[in-house]
Amino acid sequence: MNVAFIGAHPDDEMFCLGTLLLCRRRGDRLFLICATNGDKGISDDPDFPHAECARLRDREMREVARAIDAEYQCLGEPDEALYDTWDNRLKMIEAIRHTQADLLFTHFSQDYNLDHSTTSALVFQGALLSQIASVRTEKPGPAACAADLLCGPRPGIWLRGDSFRGD
Ligand SMILES: [Zn+2]
Repeated sequence: MNVAFIGAHPDDEMFCLGTLLLCRRRGDRLFLICATNGDKGISDDPDFPHAECARLRDREMREVARAIDAEYQCLGEPDEALYDTWDNRLKMIEAIRHTQADLLFTHFSQDYNLDHSTTSALVFQGALLSQIASVRTEKPGPAACAADLLCGPRPGIWLRGDSFRGD
């Protein structure tokens, strides 16, 4: 099974790292996706260069991904300035299509942080639209709409198909 965590910031994977490790243990293929580059993440130093912060956090995320044998991708939007735009929806759709994820984890839709709730909206919309072939990205969508895209038992989880066994 392909399992993806899509978060707003580098380090948000910590919200479900234990679950991801359990998935990894049973042989699932893992993907980590960040919507933003986390360039405001050094919050106690107003003089820390944003570009340097983004490089540092990218390096940290790549180390996390390597440690859990996951594929990592950053959509590159600026930290604390993520918006639900058509361009960002297309980026998210492309990322989701690339993972061919059977199971997606993301933030709760009513999260306290606007980047988190915007990421949640982009993931939910992206999961839906990634199944629609007429929504074109570099990686083509399926030939027909999949009728088996289901909302999970609580906000923040999408299941695709009937491959999820819950074990
Ligand atoms: Zn975050």
